[in-house]
Amino acid sequence: MNQLIRCKNCDAIIMKTPFDQYPEYELSPEGSFENFRIIEKDDFQEFLILHHGHQLENLKIIENSFASERAYSEPVKISFFKATNGKDKFVVKKFREKIDEPLKYQLIFGDYYLQCTTIEIQEEEISKQLIRELKLPSSSTQISAFLKLYRHVAEDIDLRELERVPEESPYPLEIYYKIDDLHLMYLLRNCRNIFKGQEYSAMEEFIHRHKDDGVLLLKATYKIQLTEIAKPEKRAMAASLPRKKEKMVEK
Ligand SMILES: [Zn+2]
Repeated sequence: MNQLIRCKNCDAIIMKTPFDQYPEYELSPEGSFENFRIIEKDDFQEFLILHHGHQLENLKIIENSFASERAYSEPVKISFFKATNGKDKFVVKKFREKIDEPLKYQLIFGDYYLQCTTIEIQEEEISKQLIRELKLPSSSTQISAFLKLYRHVAEDIDLRELERVPEESPYPLEIYYKIDDLHLMYLLRNCRNIFKGQEYSAMEEFIHRHKDDGVLLLKATYKIQLTEIAKPEKRAMAASLPRKKEKMVEK
């Protein structure tokens, strides 16, 4: 099992993994397999030697606190998570500068939250489906009128009231949401100004059909807002940092 350990004297941290004991194999610069060398690796032993006589403590990773700006599958990236010793809460920055480097961990005093930067509708996908299903010409003013209306609905929406669609995006900071019933009703009502008679009925069906299947999902993009504070002993002057009142999701 992985164990996150902090040196209280230096604020260095290490993730002790079951793999610490295994040697790492490295290819020669030419990339040939014949002369690879073995690097004996024991990061944790190194850490213990470096922090000999210092006070160490276990940190517990706070569940669901992971945040990263790059795709989950991306090996070279910076991500953050939160950890606690039961009393204080820390931000842990986890990163790798090059693909062949081991992961590094850095302790940060402070906190972060996710700030929503944009809410978008999927214009291209909506237009494509409207052309295909309602047989509207791609130059149709009805399409642009509907997109304008839906954009207006999206701008007004409070994400905290929406249902999040899990795992729609490989990017941790792009989150998809399902439109709620109240805004759906508003959308339908205003569609009456754009579509008449049979066209309206077709549009009503279109909206109901696509509200769950991805076409009408709203895409919110977040950014990580990191607030660093001074170390607790030196915190007296820096007190607490002001928090902006913006659309945000606690992580
Ligand atoms: Zn130390």
